[in-house]
Amino acid sequence: MCGIVGFTGKQSAAPVLLAGLKKLEYRGYDSAGIAVENDGLISVSKVSGRIANLCEKTKDGALLQGNTGIGHTRWATHGAPTDVNAHPHISNDRRFTVVHNGIIENYMALREELIEKGYHFESQTDTEVVVHLLEMYDSGDFKETVMRTTARLEGSYALGILCADCPGTIYAVREASPLILGVGVGENFFASDVTALVAYTRNAIYLEDGEFAALTPNGISVFDCTGAPIRKEISRITWSIEAAEKGGYDHFMLKEIMEQPRAVKAALTPRLQGDEIHLDGFDYSAEELREIRKVVITACGSAYYAGCAGKYAIEKLCRLPVTVELASELRYSDPQIDSSTLLIVLSQSGETADTIAAMKECQKRGAKTLAVVNVVGSTIAKLADHTLYTWAGPEIAVATTKGYTTQLTVLYLFALYTAEKLALVSEEDYHRLLSQLQGLPKQMQQVLDMNTAIPRLAEKYKHNSSVFFIGRNTDYSVALEGALKLKEISYIHAEAYAAGELKHGTIALIDEGQPVVALCCNEMIAEKTMNNIIEVKARGAKVLAVAEKGNRTILSQADDVIYIPRVDPLFSAAVEVVPLQLLAYYTAKEKGCDIDKPKNLAKSVTVE
Ligand code: GLU
Repeated sequence: MCGIVGFTGKQSAAPVLLAGLKKLEYRGYDSAGIAVENDGLISVSKVSGRIANLCEKTKDGALLQGNTGIGHTRWATHGAPTDVNAHPHISNDRRFTVVHNGIIENYMALREELIEKGYHFESQTDTEVVVHLLEMYDSGDFKETVMRTTARLEGSYALGILCADCPGTIYAVREASPLILGVGVGENFFASDVTALVAYTRNAIYLEDGEFAALTPNGISVFDCTGAPIRKEISRITWSIEAAEKGGYDHFMLKEIMEQPRAVKAALTPRLQGDEIHLDGFDYSAEELREIRKVVITACGSAYYAGCAGKYAIEKLCRLPVTVELASELRYSDPQIDSSTLLIVLSQSGETADTIAAMKECQKRGAKTLAVVNVVGSTIAKLADHTLYTWAGPEIAVATTKGYTTQLTVLYLFALYTAEKLALVSEEDYHRLLSQLQGLPKQMQQVLDMNTAIPRLAEKYKHNSSVFFIGRNTDYSVALEGALKLKEISYIHAEAYAAGELKHGTIALIDEGQPVVALCCNEMIAEKTMNNIIEVKARGAKVLAVAEKGNRTILSQADDVIYIPRVDPLFSAAVEVVPLQLLAYYTAKEKGCDIDKPKNLAKSVTVE
C-alpha cells in the first residue's frame, strides 16, 4: 500500500534508499526503515514516524555501510505503527530481511505453524511470517527459497528481499501490489512507483502480478511464477514526478475514485472465507449479539452519510433499531445509551475530534463500541472494544471517496454477518446477498467504465449556483453524500432532500432551469421517486437521473440519465455513489477548483 525501494550497485545504498523513500512520502505512511547488507551481515534501522527521524537515526545513512539494501514506508494494516512493527523485518538467524506492501491474508495460520516450529516473532505484523518462512525454506539457493516462500502466501504483496548470503542480490516479488524495476548502469533498483526511480534512471521494467525478479548491479532476471525466465521490455518513463505521484491521473481524488474497486475488494476478500464471513476484530457470539438491543452509529461528514446508508442494511437484516447521530451533536446530548447499545463509530482517520468525544460519552454510559476506521492504531481504534479496519489504503485527497465506500462495505459485512449469526436470514437470502457483496468491486468497475459521459454532464451543469439532490430510502442516503461531494470541491451550493419531503417546502425553490439530481436506483421505491421527478419537471427543473440499467421509463422524464448496474438495494449505495463522485470531480475541474485541497477544509478534523 505504501512504499518500497531496493538498490544494488557500487555506491553506498543507504542514502539512495532514504532519498527514494522521501520521494514516496506523498503516499502517506506511519513509519519507515531500511536494511543494508555489508560483508555478509545485515543491519536494520527503523523508526515510527517521519523519514526525517530515520535520517537522523542513521546519520543520513552513514551508519549503515554497504552497497545493497531495501527500504520501506509503512501504512500499518496489522499491528500499531510502532518501531518494532516497522519494516524491514529480519529472520531469527538474521540472514533474511523483508519489506512488504499489502496484506498477507493467511498470516494467522502461518504464524501459528511457524511458532510451533520454534520461530520467534517480534512484531504484530502479517509481514513477519515472510522472513521466518524464508529461513525455514532456505535451501542455499536464494531463488528457490523465495519461490517456496511465496508459494505459501495468500493475499496482496509487493516484497523486497535481501539475503546476507548473497551479497549484491535483491529480490523483488509482485502479487496484486505495485512494484517497478529501475534499470541503471552498474546499478539497479526497484520501487513501488516511478517517483523513487527517476532521479537515477528513466528505464523501467513493469512487473506483472505473479512475476518476480533478481537484481544485481549488472543485471536483472525476471521470472514467471513457475520460475521460468521471461523477457521483459524496458519502458521509458516519460511521466513528470508530479504526474507519477498521482498514478498518471490529474488529481489524487480521481486516482482514489478509480481505486475503489480494488479498495472495496481489499475490505471484503480477507473477510470472506468460502461461504462464511469472518469479522476479524469483532468476534461476538450469537449470545452476545442477542444482548444488543439497539445500534447507534456516530460519525461526522461523509462517514456520517456512510452510516445513514449502512443503517438500512443493519435495520433490515438484523431487525435492530438503528439511529445515526452526528458526533458533534451526540457529544452534547443526553442520549439513552447503556450496555445494551452497540455504538458503531465511523472515521477514516480515526482521529476525528467530535467522534472521539461522542464515543467517550457513550462509553461512560456503558455502550459497547465497534470502530470502523482506516488508520491502524489511531485513537478511535485504540478506544474501541472492537475495530474493523476498512483497508482502503492512504487517502490523500481531502474529499473522501474510497474511505466512504469501504466504510459502507464494512457496514454491509457487519449487517450480513450479524443477521446470519442470529439466524435472521434464510440460507437462500444469505447466499444471494453474499454474492451481491462479492460482486461490488466488479459493479463499481462497470460504473467507472460505463460513464464516460460524465465530463460532458459536468460541463452542462457547472454554471448553476445551486443543485438539489433527491431520492428516497437508500437513494436518499446517497443523495446526502452526492450533495456533500459537490459542495466540498466545486463550491456549488447543493442540498439533499428526501424526495417525499419536497412538497413540504423545498418545491417552492424549484424554478425554470433549476438542476435536480434524482436518484432512482432503489427498485422498491423508484416509482414513487418517479412521481417526484414529474413534479419538479412540471415546475421547469432540469433533471439528471441516476437509475438502474434497464430502467427505460426514466428516459421519458429526465433530461439526462446516468445508468448503474443492478445491485440489491441494501448494498446499492456503494455503487450508486460513484457517478456522483465523478460528477463532483469533473464539475470542480471545469470550474478550475483546487480539487485535492478544497478551500477551508482539512483531511482529518482533529479539532472540535
Ligand atoms: N501489512 C503490512 C503491515 O501492516 C504492510 C503494510 C504496508 O503496506 O505498508 O506491516
